[in-house]
Amino acid sequence: MNSFNWSSWIRPAIRNLRPYSSARDEFSGEALVFLDANENPYENGFNRYPDPRQMLLRNRISDLLKLPVDSIFLGNGSDEAIDLLFRAGCEARNDRALAITPSYGMYSVCADIQGVGLDKVPLNDDFSLSSERLLEAATDSHKLLFLCSPNNPSGNLLSTEEIEKLLKGFRGVVVVDEAYIDFSTSEGLMRLLPQYPNLILLRTFSKAWGLAGVRCGMALGHPDLIRILMQIKYPYNLNQLTQQAVMDRLNAVDLVYEQVQEIRREREILVSELEGITGILQVYPSDANFVLVRVAQANEVYNKLVDRGLIIRNRSNQDLCEGALRITIGTPEENKQLIREIKTILQ
Ligand SMILES: *Cc1c(COP(=O)(O)O)cnc(C)c1O
Repeated sequence: MNSFNWSSWIRPAIRNLRPYSSARDEFSGEALVFLDANENPYENGFNRYPDPRQMLLRNRISDLLKLPVDSIFLGNGSDEAIDLLFRAGCEARNDRALAITPSYGMYSVCADIQGVGLDKVPLNDDFSLSSERLLEAATDSHKLLFLCSPNNPSGNLLSTEEIEKLLKGFRGVVVVDEAYIDFSTSEGLMRLLPQYPNLILLRTFSKAWGLAGVRCGMALGHPDLIRILMQIKYPYNLNQLTQQAVMDRLNAVDLVYEQVQEIRREREILVSELEGITGILQVYPSDANFVLVRVAQANEVYNKLVDRGLIIRNRSNQDLCEGALRITIGTPEENKQLIREIKTILQ
């Protein structure tokens, strides 16, 4: 086991924090009468505060992932976990963070909000990960390193071997955002958690699980960090409706797997259709539920699709992404429509 000291990584103010203790935190067990939280006593389904520690849901996820419950944090989307990681570990103005580029936009938004400088290190030209480049850029003031696998917007899985070099060589916390892992052929890095206490994984119910509107994401990692995240989150960060909707979806896991299979099949069809279109210069292989393509006139193609009521993501202003458009895999009908429109525009 790697040596990593969570308590010296955490900001002193957070280390010494006395967290808010809610009525429901202070009592656990069976009771008949609750006169502790100033709730309206008349039942309507929502008159009680939800469980701030989300024990039913976290135990259920623990069974699913085969991971101890004290390694699981649930947030209002994985975006909440990204924000809390900055707030837990990074002192405004002094500390810095590292991230690969191109990648997900929230890492730099959360860095900016906390007043933390984010240094972006480009992936290789084929979007593969270079641990060497990242380790060259890393200093002792870098508290966090953000990786994303499969990466958004490039769609590729990052090499586990390269990530392990970073886990060994980087002095701070390595966050691997696995928002799209369920669409990939990989199991993800959960098996590395016992070995690397400085590894944090982000997962979400927003993509494969089909619950973007519900807002629930996960951080998986060392219990010392999970405890801190639980202390600094809003006490009731997951409302009762969210907890229930996620539980219902977990009970429909077979349907989720079927949909993921269907989306993966559609991805292969879409990729081969796109490859056949003259005017599309490159279709990048994808382990996610989107594909990145390169075209000669990205802005023009994007605008013409918008005019036809079809919205994709123009990524052509991102690093290494000149001429790049990101297309989410839709239903078979939606994908056919997309192909039809792109053909009309490009041919
Ligand atoms: C969509 C996405 C997320 C999900 O964020 P939520 O807040 O859980 O909806 C996280 N990371 C990446 C890279 C994403 O693309």
